[in-house]
Amino acid sequence: MASEARPAPAATERADAGSNGHGGPILDVENVTKRFGGIQAVDGATFEVAEGSITALIGPNGAGKTTLFNVLTGFYPGDRGSVRLQGRQIFRQPPHRIARLGMVRTFQITKALAAMPVIDNMMLAAPNQPGEKLRNVVLRPVATRRREREAREQAIELLEMFDLTRLADSYAGTLSGGQRKLLELARALMTEPRLLMLDEPMAGINPTLGARLLEFMQRLRAERGVTFLFVEHDMEVVMGHSDRVIVMAEGRVIASGPPGEVRRDQRVIDAYLGGSAPPSEAGSSP
Ligand code: ATP
Repeated sequence: MASEARPAPAATERADAGSNGHGGPILDVENVTKRFGGIQAVDGATFEVAEGSITALIGPNGAGKTTLFNVLTGFYPGDRGSVRLQGRQIFRQPPHRIARLGMVRTFQITKALAAMPVIDNMMLAAPNQPGEKLRNVVLRPVATRRREREAREQAIELLEMFDLTRLADSYAGTLSGGQRKLLELARALMTEPRLLMLDEPMAGINPTLGARLLEFMQRLRAERGVTFLFVEHDMEVVMGHSDRVIVMAEGRVIASGPPGEVRRDQRVIDAYLGGSAPPSEAGSSP
């Protein structure tokens, strides 16, 4: 049973207590909508994510969580609404620009990446590599080499953190499911995100690795000030490891607050009772 008494070190009850220079939450989402033909997948979603928090996004199947993630990160164009990252409007901006501004999501290791060594996977994730442009290799060889050296150092440091150093020269395709998840997280960190978005990070990995992943999230928050927003179905993880929980149902945000409060919210219980077990039953997967 997850404990409700766990302290939330960096999280604050008020989302506007962040230290990001603009005095507001790191992410401010207002009235976002997204329709697919006749389906209103996201319907006026409004919420905030406090800087330095570990915030979970939950909801029954089909609630619109993944669609919202895709709209926030620019992979789907939203229909209407406002999304501000550290005070800056990013709604309908392209994914690469949003990523450059610090909001980054993890990606599955694709077939192409699986056919490359782990260290190359990491190097490819480094942003703005001067070596990517032939012109830079010819005209700015020193800067190119320096940037590559820095990226390699960063890659090695991250692989060490995730205990993947011994696999640096292995093909990513030979990694176990859990090791791939860690590599996905390590790749995302190459861009030094301020807000890291994870879609079901615990899916398909064993409990030991899941626990390590959660430890890494806590550590990245403490050591690098990374904020996390993650979609998760495992209620034990949500209730025991997040500072705040945002609940979606039928495209709308129906509740948000600390886990202990949200699990007692009648609207949340009703939303889950429509299909599956309520979130008060820690450990259940709705
Ligand atoms: P789950 O927990 O099952 O992953 P979810 O909360 O992430 O669900 P979404 O996948 O965002 O929910 O789906 C919300 C609604 O939008 C569903 O009715 C779904 O069928 C629909 N939907 C999602 N993506 C598309 C798409 N590309 N085209 C058409 N409809 C879509």
